[in-house]
Amino acid sequence: MPMAGPLPASFEGDVLVPDSPDYDTARAVWNGAVDRRPKYVVRCAGTDDVRAAVRVARELGLPIGVRGGGHSAAGWAVPDGGLMIDLSRMRGVAVDAGARTAQVQGGALLGSLDAASQPYGLATTAGIVSHTGIGGLALGGGVGWLGRQYGLTCDNALGYEVVTADGELVRASADENPDLFWGLRGGGGNFGVVTRFDLTLHVVGTQALVAEVDLDPARGLDALRTWLARSDDAPRRATLFAEVSAGGPLTLGFVWVGPPDDAAPLVAELDDLGTAQARRVRPISYLDLQRQSDVGAAHGWRRYAKSHYVQELPDAALEAFLAHAGADVGAASLVAYGGAIADVDPGTTAFAHRNTRFEYDVGAKWEDPADDERHAATCRRLAATIAPWSVGVYVNALGVEGAAGVHRAYGDATYARLQELKTAWDPDNAFRLNQNIPPA
Ligand SMILES: Cc1cc2nc3c(=O)[nH]c(=O)nc-3n(C[C@H](O)[C@H](O)[C@H](O)COP(=O)(O)OP(=O)(O)OC[C@H]3O[C@@H](n4cnc5c(N)ncnc54)[C@H](O)[C@@H]3O)c2cc1C
Repeated sequence: MPMAGPLPASFEGDVLVPDSPDYDTARAVWNGAVDRRPKYVVRCAGTDDVRAAVRVARELGLPIGVRGGGHSAAGWAVPDGGLMIDLSRMRGVAVDAGARTAQVQGGALLGSLDAASQPYGLATTAGIVSHTGIGGLALGGGVGWLGRQYGLTCDNALGYEVVTADGELVRASADENPDLFWGLRGGGGNFGVVTRFDLTLHVVGTQALVAEVDLDPARGLDALRTWLARSDDAPRRATLFAEVSAGGPLTLGFVWVGPPDDAAPLVAELDDLGTAQARRVRPISYLDLQRQSDVGAAHGWRRYAKSHYVQELPDAALEAFLAHAGADVGAASLVAYGGAIADVDPGTTAFAHRNTRFEYDVGAKWEDPADDERHAATCRRLAATIAPWSVGVYVNALGVEGAAGVHRAYGDATYARLQELKTAWDPDNAFRLNQNIPPA
């Protein structure tokens, strides 16, 4: 086994270098357009390995990338010429059904958490594609179909086990290092490598429902306005959304987590929105709901996306959204927040945008590198039409937009507090391949 510097004899994982057989697989991430070559890929087998890897990277002066699920579209996990701490061997999830808690290793994917929790009818908020990493998702906040009932993933964090920039292992919870506990709930990978998340689970049952209607986007304004306005006082089990894609219909709908029959009144409201080109009302298991986008969101495509948080959506904004149907590429959505996400005071965690009403995303996927600029430019152009109503952005949906983008994700007060925390916990900015908060 090639050694990445002075890794101790106790190191139990694998170290890959550019001529190792698995190297190209290990450096590939979700976005097929990311093509970076770490000097070492250190696949850690446990927390002590992570501690050793951080220390070695620091001693050798190598940039550190941390790979959870590899989903960040910017490919933050892969450091060119650096040391990638690959957590893909640390994917364990242990559920205590009686206590309604889960211990989740830092490299676990969402699907493992759901698979371990659902036999007991339990779950907690997680994203909507099962091969996303809990690591990056929870550290940036964590939004999903349970968010309006139970808050963000980070709102369900009881504690974290963290390897710090000097390779020490610490705990962060309400009682231990509460400053760090605040920052890990939204502040991303800036403060250390999380080797274990302790999460609260909820009794959600195993049933869900997806209801959608397709309408003509050219005549969709009234329906879109009515449906989005309905979101504010919709039952918390419902997450309302609107979607539009190049050349496609306007789709309005909602995801319901709970007994499907209870959603009947909201299905009736959806049916009242206008003459539908198509109507889909599908009871589905919670596990299948969480996997239903897995194939469309598969690894390997080249990707580009832009996002905004939006609050007020006057008709001009809705018309801009509907006009996306006339673009040559791209698919866009507006997904509701509110409910339990908004119950939390903005200062309680580092996730700042508690009062956002909707997350707007536009993205494209393609295969040919020759299409890179065309697709990215179209997404940027479409997102710019919504920008006048932007009140910020979700840090996990932010692309490479430099310091201005990171400020937009946090707002001034949260950013300033994160910077103080960074100065205390990572003064050399060892963890900088992320939506970076530089030390003061
Ligand atoms: C198809 C798809 C669907 C998505 N759906 C949702 C969704 O429903 N809800 C939502 O909230 N977000 C969603 N996201 C966004 C997602 O939260 C981010 O892409 C997130 O960064 C993914 O985390 P990861 O561990 O897979 O990524 P990685 O690329 O491995 O890591 C991303 C960042 O997190 C850091 N990181 C990861 N794990 C750790 C760890 N254990 N300790 C310290 N730092 C770590 C990395 O250093 C890096 O900076 C989605 C993304 C994709 C591509």
